[in-house]
Amino acid sequence: MIDLRSDTVTRPTKPMLEAMFAAQVGDDVFNEDPTISALEEKTAALFAKEAGLFCPSGTMTNQIAIKVHTQPGDEVICENTCHIYNYEGGGISFNSGAQAKLLAGDRGRLNAKQIEENINPVFDWMARTSLVSIENTCNRSGGSYYSLAGMKEISELCKKHSLKYHLDGARIFNALVETGDSPQSVGILFDSISVCLSKGLGAPVGSVLLGDKEFIRKARRIRKVFGGGMRQAGYLAAAGIYALDHNTKRLKEDHSRAQILAAALGSLSFVENILPVDSNIIIFTLSDKMKSEDMVAKLKEKHIISTGFGKQTIRFVTHLDFTDDMLEKTVKALKAL
Ligand SMILES: *Cc1c(COP(=O)(O)O)cnc(C)c1O
Repeated sequence: MIDLRSDTVTRPTKPMLEAMFAAQVGDDVFNEDPTISALEEKTAALFAKEAGLFCPSGTMTNQIAIKVHTQPGDEVICENTCHIYNYEGGGISFNSGAQAKLLAGDRGRLNAKQIEENINPVFDWMARTSLVSIENTCNRSGGSYYSLAGMKEISELCKKHSLKYHLDGARIFNALVETGDSPQSVGILFDSISVCLSKGLGAPVGSVLLGDKEFIRKARRIRKVFGGGMRQAGYLAAAGIYALDHNTKRLKEDHSRAQILAAALGSLSFVENILPVDSNIIIFTLSDKMKSEDMVAKLKEKHIISTGFGKQTIRFVTHLDFTDDMLEKTVKALKAL
């Protein structure tokens, strides 16, 4: 099977598994797992943050950040298509009793001016705006990414208005390999960052939440309340360390393969529109001649699996386990549709 549904479908490679088997572990609820501590310190240092917290998922790292940064009744400014609002089970209200102010971005990206226009004035009858959360790269908007200047402008605005600033960096390394910016230059702009190890980086499990020491101290407590305090999870953290050491630079390859897939799709008469392909996500729309479920089914017959995103839209995601050989087969299969 050639799996283009998501970059979460990767399996650990042999050297990653070897690193996992070799991990030193301990009880992390007692703060005694040296491999988890090493991963947390390594990721924090990479993004110039004081501390890190290893969590089972990116949903948990995002939701912990929202919980620490807000009080019930507060408002979180985020973008229409963002993961924290659309794909985390209503967690903003469920976990934090907060509400979202959804803004329409430019392919998922917000700008400082529109955020400023949407900060509530201080009245008893208005929700208190306390947090701005952005996503980079923007998943549902087709893998677009922010410029450093764009993120910095929002950072300055947040400081001016005493708002907290969170980055859902599930695919932050996909953005960084394109812009060439250092993780530190992005890290210093935010109060908290969620980095996923189980997306393009190929680890089986886990995300790291980053922030200052005081933030992580609070986050650690919330993680326990959410049921995310793990014991000898150093075996998983070892995969994360391996992923950071070996799998960030190569993301460029996934992006080049995505370009080739997009070009092949562009030559098909029934493909009406393809969102600009900026990283490893390809979202395209079909004309009336073809329904997305039919195209997904036809590809499946050829052992290629993809995700229908509504009636006429399909998403492909390239990743570590999508090889050049698979790319060639997919291009051939597409052209034969
Ligand atoms: C995948 C993803 C997450 C976290 O998802 P988990 O499956 O909970 O790890 C968060 N944000 C974005 C943009 C994502 O794509």
